[in-house]
Amino acid sequence: MVRENEIRENEVAVDLPPATDAGLVFIGRISTPWTSRMETPRQGRHDGPLCRIEIFEPWRQALQGVEAFERLEILYWLDRSRRDLVLQSPANSGKVHGTFSLRSPVRPNPIGTSIVKLEGVEDGVLLVRGMDCLDGTPLLDLKPDRTLFKPIAPPQPGDFQTGDDVAHYCKKA
Ligand code: SAM
Repeated sequence: MVRENEIRENEVAVDLPPATDAGLVFIGRISTPWTSRMETPRQGRHDGPLCRIEIFEPWRQALQGVEAFERLEILYWLDRSRRDLVLQSPANSGKVHGTFSLRSPVRPNPIGTSIVKLEGVEDGVLLVRGMDCLDGTPLLDLKPDRTLFKPIAPPQPGDFQTGDDVAHYCKKA
């Protein structure tokens, strides 16, 4: 992982293909105490500082019911990240790791996720603990922590499938 967009010993960057529009919409903005990547926690903590997640219109109505969940999963766009490293040296030691074996912010599509503790909801703003992003980071989505969520829609056949019945999908051609 890089802290300030530098390239470290043995790290490998690639030419990025042209960006295509995946149709993402920034639905809000996350306010945190951190303005430097050198100070931002590597992973948020539920006893960390209170952060504000402001939801933009027309999405505020979509907050209906979130207050019932003690924890939420937050997805955000790590907008100040470089996106071209395939091998990274998190400890800056010359030892490198594949990007997909890390939770580094440096990735082709820099999506961060955190499970946060919900402390309050007021006027389109969520108050949470557990973030680890820079002040002003764009919000992509939020949903209940999966361990707290029971699907409201009735189950479907796939919900009861177990074992290797469909293993042919996984076999090499
Ligand atoms: N919890 C998320 C995850 O696991 O997907 C993100 C973890 S990532 C290691 C957190 C680090 O990303 C922070 O310590 C900071 O260095 C960096 N970071 C935070 N906000 C960022 C932003 N908006 N743009 C670029 N880098 C950011």
